[in-house]
Amino acid sequence: MTPQRRSDGTDRRLLPLVGLVVFLAAVSTIVSAVRLANDEPRVGPVTWLALISLVAAGFTVKVRIRIRANNHDIAWTETAVVIGLTVASTSTVVLATGCALVLVTTLARIPAIRAAFGVGKNMLVATAAGMVLHASGWQVGEESVLATILPLSLAYLTAVLLDELVALPVIAIASGERVQELFREDWELRLAFAVGRLVVVLGTFLILRGDSRLLIAVPPLMLSLHLLYSNRVKARTEQQAWQRLARTTDALNVVDLDKVLTTAVTQAAELFSADEVEIELRDGPRAVRGTRGGIGYDGPAGDPSSVQGSAVSAPLEGHDGSADVGVLRLRFRGPVQLSEREQYTLRTFASALCTAVRNAQAYAELARVAAEHAHAATHDALTGLANRRQLLERGTEQLSTRHAEGVTALVLIDLNHFKEVNDTLGHAAGDQVLMQVADRLRAAAQPEDLVARLGGDEFAVLLRGLPAPAVAAHRADGLIGTLHQPLDVDGMRISVEASGGIAVAPASGGMPELLRRADVAMYQAKRAGQRVSTYAPTRDTADLGRLTLGGELPRAVADHEFTVNFQPIVDLASGEVTGAEALARWHHPTHGMIDPLRFLEAVERSGLLPAFAEAILDQALLAAVSWRAAGFDLPVSVNVSPRSLLDARFPGAVLARLRAHDLPPDRLVLELTETLTLSQLDVVDRVLSRLRDSGVRLALDDFGTGYSSLSLLSRIPVHELKIDRSFVTAMEGSAEAAAVIRSTLDLGRSLDLTVVAEGVESEPQRRALWELGCAAGQGHLFARPLPSGSLLAALQRGSGGRPGTLVPPLHDTGAVIRLAPGRRQPGRSRPAGLPHLPA
Ligand code: C2E
Ligand code: CA
Ligand code: CA
Repeated sequence: MTPQRRSDGTDRRLLPLVGLVVFLAAVSTIVSAVRLANDEPRVGPVTWLALISLVAAGFTVKVRIRIRANNHDIAWTETAVVIGLTVASTSTVVLATGCALVLVTTLARIPAIRAAFGVGKNMLVATAAGMVLHASGWQVGEESVLATILPLSLAYLTAVLLDELVALPVIAIASGERVQELFREDWELRLAFAVGRLVVVLGTFLILRGDSRLLIAVPPLMLSLHLLYSNRVKARTEQQAWQRLARTTDALNVVDLDKVLTTAVTQAAELFSADEVEIELRDGPRAVRGTRGGIGYDGPAGDPSSVQGSAVSAPLEGHDGSADVGVLRLRFRGPVQLSEREQYTLRTFASALCTAVRNAQAYAELARVAAEHAHAATHDALTGLANRRQLLERGTEQLSTRHAEGVTALVLIDLNHFKEVNDTLGHAAGDQVLMQVADRLRAAAQPEDLVARLGGDEFAVLLRGLPAPAVAAHRADGLIGTLHQPLDVDGMRISVEASGGIAVAPASGGMPELLRRADVAMYQAKRAGQRVSTYAPTRDTADLGRLTLGGELPRAVADHEFTVNFQPIVDLASGEVTGAEALARWHHPTHGMIDPLRFLEAVERSGLLPAFAEAILDQALLAAVSWRAAGFDLPVSVNVSPRSLLDARFPGAVLARLRAHDLPPDRLVLELTETLTLSQLDVVDRVLSRLRDSGVRLALDDFGTGYSSLSLLSRIPVHELKIDRSFVTAMEGSAEAAAVIRSTLDLGRSLDLTVVAEGVESEPQRRALWELGCAAGQGHLFARPLPSGSLLAALQRGSGGRPGTLVPPLHDTGAVIRLAPGRRQPGRSRPAGLPHLPA
């Protein structure tokens, strides 16, 4: 119950009007009673009875029209009243009207306020009509027809107008319609009816004048006129309703579900004169609610409506009752009984709405599927990033835009060692890594960039509208930098390393050429050990990148195109060779010698890694055997791909090769590159332990460049550390590099490890390293990587007549050399694993 309503459903705003009407009627009653008591002519009881019956009958015969929860009746009361005025005085008629209506409303149990209003209104109508009739000089008993027509018509007109004037605001307030609209509604029908009733009034007057017995003919006349009118009203209402229904169902014929629901709610409110319409869809479930004015609520079903009263609902189902998509509810503020015609309309409307909803849902589904197809064709399913096709399309679009603003560039990003993650942790973890990488790139990209996944672990970012080509490198750095923080995969922290290649849009060749250049730049980055590299035409030596991707690798392995060069490891002080590192080379039939950094990645990805690794190992051991036979018993160092360490058969294969060549295991040093991924895997631990326990020596390559050097050392006890070339190169100018070397040497001393400095290119470097306490070195100063036979020849030749040396000693022979504390001869360190005694 809203505060505006009383318990009987009457709107509070009506009370003042009702009060006024009742007050005026009361005044009229008193005046009438006084006048009747004093001077007015009285009528007999039969006439009283006839008058009361006439008014009561007029009030009872009516056409009922429902507007929302309010029924509005058009009755014959004023006709009866005016007829009464032709036989009795105004006061008599006013009082008779009051008596008749009190009687009828009481018998019909009409609520008190409504009854009071009805009684009061009609008494006022009687009073006003009587006053007009007598003011125009007409008296009861006047026989002349001509002298009667005009006054009687005026009286009737007054009655009708007053009746409308008082009633319309009441209907308007109760129904929420505007008075003007109500007044206009069916006006010609109402006018015709009013004229018809005036005819009845005049006819009755004539009948009564001629022979009062003819009064008997009045009710049939009244009734037939009433039937005629009410049928016309009904027919018209029905016709309008059907037209409206047809218009409404037409309007529902749209494909947008929201539009269907909005139309249905507003139209149904209009169609059924409902105070509120609600559509509840099973799909969701979603409820949409509103009035003629629009939607008031659209959300999850179950939200209570503010309209209390009565509700009529209809299931939204097809004609055959098949599909059931929800329910339609009409709410009214009062009790409502739908007519048969309205019920039928409701069912028809609900069925049309059901069809419309189903159509809209089907259309939405169709649109969704179409969009999904379009999306799937241009996007990577795993990461949701654009795919290669989309990148090519968008890139081509961008490059062909004549007045495109700024510079277009492409950054190609390739994850290193991704396959390890996939192979050891499973594809689910691999997928997670890819998704997280995608998320980071997306987050780091600018809105105008296009981030794409080209397949596997290759990503690309198309940079658009750059202010200058140089900005590309900066942006690429930022993109790759975001990948540096370790990723969290199922609680495991995994670090991805990535290499990036940048290319700025070329003048010709379009997107394919831009992609190719970025690819070349990426390989340059990998080769130079840089994070990012920008494409430089001068370094674009043919399309080597494509070689490795094509079907060349299997042939290269089969045809033994992979060979090995050896770079000696030298005792810094004496110049004596203490070992040699095997470095792979691809001797390509048409491209000549190809560097390992150019093809290693492809080999690792290709599945040919075991065959490749075995071929290299075999050649390395063969070389060691040949040197040994010539009197140089040198250990040979072989680089091991991290991926090989994930292969549980790897130790077995290594040991088998050693046995086959009849070489003691400690003549083989396996160089490992540290990666965080590897350091966390049990399988790697098992593989390395087995090798170490068998006597194979382990070296940690590129030491200082990784991030978990120390933690790795604690888990994988190695025999040797190799200081990365970058520190040796930088040591003269950079205190930081020197500090790294110093602390690495300290570490080596305390853990009893051999330390080898890589990339020694000059005598000053050699001396500086020796002074810091470094015993061994490797680099161009001593020798470039050489074929096994060439190295043997060099060893035999020796330096300064000392076979086995490649350079003169640091100090004159014979001079007393004070060994730096803790310095040990390379290759002669205490076997790892023995307890370390503090010095
Ligand atoms: P690495 O193990 O650090 O090998 C040393 C690299 O430094 C070699 O490059 C060598 O030629 C180069 N180098 C040696 N002395 C100097 C010097 O004084 N100055 C300069 N600027 N460079 C010097 P390379 O042969 O191109 O090998 C590159 C990398 O390829 C190696 O780095 C190693 O990680 C990998 N690699 C080489 N052979 C194999 C192999 O058989 N298997 C595996 N898994 N990796 C290999
Ligand atoms: Ca190495
Ligand atoms: Ca190295």
